[in-house]
Amino acid sequence: MKRVLFIDRDGTLVVEPPIDYQIDSLEKLEFRPRVFQSLAYVAARLDCEWVMVTNQDGMGTPAFPAETFWPVQQKIVRALENEGICFDQVCIDTSFPEENRPTRKPGTAMLARYTTGEYDLAHSFVIGDRLTDVQLAANLGCRAIYFAPAEQGMAEVEATGLAGVCEAVTDDWWKVAQIVCSATRRVSLERHTAETDIRLSLNLDGTGRTDIHTGLGFFDHMLDQLGRHAGIDLAVTVDGDLWVDEHHTIEDTALVLGEALGRALGDKRGIARYGFSLPMDDALCRVSLDLGGRPWLVWKADFHREKIGDVPTEMFFHFFKSLSDAARINLHVEAEGANEHHKIEAIFKAFARALRMAIKRDITDHTLPSTKGML
Ligand SMILES: [Mg+2]
Repeated sequence: MKRVLFIDRDGTLVVEPPIDYQIDSLEKLEFRPRVFQSLAYVAARLDCEWVMVTNQDGMGTPAFPAETFWPVQQKIVRALENEGICFDQVCIDTSFPEENRPTRKPGTAMLARYTTGEYDLAHSFVIGDRLTDVQLAANLGCRAIYFAPAEQGMAEVEATGLAGVCEAVTDDWWKVAQIVCSATRRVSLERHTAETDIRLSLNLDGTGRTDIHTGLGFFDHMLDQLGRHAGIDLAVTVDGDLWVDEHHTIEDTALVLGEALGRALGDKRGIARYGFSLPMDDALCRVSLDLGGRPWLVWKADFHREKIGDVPTEMFFHFFKSLSDAARINLHVEAEGANEHHKIEAIFKAFARALRMAIKRDITDHTLPSTKGML
């Protein structure tokens, strides 16, 4: 499904006149700094539809004659086209705020063709300099980039309860371009079977915040280590058939986590791809991995206790096997040591550190770390 960039005009693409807010002559037309190079950068890298969405209060009335509007509008469109930035649609609402028309931002009536399920709105953006642009993003189910000074703008979106839809607050077009080209690596999944109900959300560009509830204390502890040491935000809630045993809960969590990892990695452009780590603590543990898309697990770790906490030790291999299959990771795990708790904790930590290295992404680098052309 195609992504869409909904871009505001006045105050965003061009400077908004401070007194009457009308750009009704070419003398008043001034483009925002770096808008051309930034949008040309996006146009060269992103396959998406471009939609200009603008409120032009009273355009076509004596207060704002159409003949003063169109020469400016045509100049803006032509100047952008000359740099390879071609808008597929231009939506202009000419009503006044007090009319409360559904076509006026943040109303979505002009954008009905984008809300039929054929577009990837969850990974699309509204870019605009007013809170109504951010609200439009919320109404469409898109992400917003609030084009405003960072500190002041963030306070505004927080005060209005719109921080959740805001991907970023910046008035730097170059930063906007970087953000738009680096698709959000967030995934939320649910999986319901007769054996387990699982809700999982993952953000590969997070800060290591975790919220884990699997019903198994030791497993929670291990997944918490995974999120924290990989630097990914991970929330997992599992309602599993623990009255049978721990097997389904651990196996199904690994499958959902693996699928989420694979989806969040997306097309893998710009990632480091490989990760490895070295011995930790008293346990000698090595985890090497490749996110190249071919699942394989080499497991060299023996446990001499039946359980650690409430988790059977045989389930550790099964967890990583299921995860490796679902996320299509090539994974080598080796661990030795005397303390069983340390050994498995070192495996989870080393896996997390290896993953952290491999998912690290340079958002200005859109090449694939492969000579095959796909991963
Ligand atoms: Mg504006």
